[in-house]
Amino acid sequence: MVNYSNSKKFLLQEKEIPTAWYNIIPSMPVKPRPMLNPATKQPLAAEDLFPLFSEEAAKQEMNFTDSWIEIPEQVRDLYKIWRPTPLVRARGLEKMLDTPAHIYFKNESVSPVGSHKLNSAIPQAYYCKKQGVTNITTETGAGQWGAALSLASRMFGLDLAVYMVKISYTQKPYRRSIMETYGAEVVPSPSMSTKAGRKIITENPNYQGSLGTAISEAVELAMSTPNCKYALGSVLNHVALHQTVIGLEAEKQMEMAEEYPDVVIGCFGGGSNFSGIAFPFMRHNLAGEKNTRFIAAEPSSCPKLTRGVMQYDFGDEAGYTPLIPMLTLGHTFAPANIHAGGLRYHGAGAVVSQLMQDKLMSAVDIPQLESFEAATLFAKAEGIIPAPESAHAIAATIREALKAKESGENKVILFNLSGHGLIDMTAYDRYLAGDLANYEVTDEQVAANTANLEKII
Ligand SMILES: *Cc1c(COP(=O)(O)O)cnc(C)c1O
Repeated sequence: MVNYSNSKKFLLQEKEIPTAWYNIIPSMPVKPRPMLNPATKQPLAAEDLFPLFSEEAAKQEMNFTDSWIEIPEQVRDLYKIWRPTPLVRARGLEKMLDTPAHIYFKNESVSPVGSHKLNSAIPQAYYCKKQGVTNITTETGAGQWGAALSLASRMFGLDLAVYMVKISYTQKPYRRSIMETYGAEVVPSPSMSTKAGRKIITENPNYQGSLGTAISEAVELAMSTPNCKYALGSVLNHVALHQTVIGLEAEKQMEMAEEYPDVVIGCFGGGSNFSGIAFPFMRHNLAGEKNTRFIAAEPSSCPKLTRGVMQYDFGDEAGYTPLIPMLTLGHTFAPANIHAGGLRYHGAGAVVSQLMQDKLMSAVDIPQLESFEAATLFAKAEGIIPAPESAHAIAATIREALKAKESGENKVILFNLSGHGLIDMTAYDRYLAGDLANYEVTDEQVAANTANLEKII
């Protein structure tokens, strides 16, 4: 029997919530390439993004010089609703794996919406409010980002319209209910309310939607509505920046535990929670003080980091966004419907893509069944049912812990539990019923999807 009382929590005081976010870009040996205007192929300036994003978010996106960016007092106050989050030594999991490794996780599932996404939703809504914006648009896949921005919009009295990928809208009704409970308007995407949506529905009436399409619709609405901005929950530099509160807190908590991680692991969709846990620790590697390994865990069915190409690509299906330098599977890539574990986005953020190129971090791809096995093992050992996304990080952690068992190494592993899975039980149902299978993208599919990208790099 597992002794639950052995799992140990490390807690910080409210006053220890970080006062500044950490911007890794000034410390990078090679800076990420700039975003480009798709028409002229010229680098963009922050002002070019003002029509789309709040001005402060646009400036943070382009900030290559300030290592620390102050967290506004009002944002810090709202963080106090659930932050600081616990760091937990996962003794139950260690015992179950019979590993000498010490396993820690940062529990971001304790936020009101059950994931790390609120860390960026609050500042993004705050900056919109501060400049007098009244409406926000966004997209959501499984619904976590939509739920987080719905709550953040409510906090600042902003009206939010969420384009939700159609297949999730019909298969995951509870996340829609959550967004509507907070007062957001939720539209299944593709919809008839935008040019991008109408075009796709006309060409393919049964299309079940993708994140890329939903982004196109949200961007189009924001650009054609006065006093309206768009907000994105991952991929971009300013989103990764906001998420560094995770790693900055974890750093202090590891000190309380009198340990330092040899390996830091995060699951990977577009990079926000991975960046959040990893970058504050990576700054010590970049300063030559530490030699921690960083591992991003992505699904085998959407393997942009392990098998994508480094190229300028659009962030969305229709090609409305600036060109972003990314490891990408191509902006028209859509993972197979058999894939139930989230992390379905086609590309990685510019910073992580550059760090991958420079071998300052690595990535693993996790087959679907391995991720759900890891999730159920973790649930039994630690009592928390993880988000299917987070399960990829748990699977990568288990791989590392079992390697340590083989070699007898005493290594310290830290992973980010990006969210809980209590609203994802349909995915667990499918797993428990044996309805899920492994699915790997073929080389031909990757080649076909990336063949049409313009060769700018
Ligand atoms: C959105 C989400 C992810 C993936 O997004 P990243 O930007 O890569 O972090 C992972 N886990 C949870 C719980 C999420 O909601």
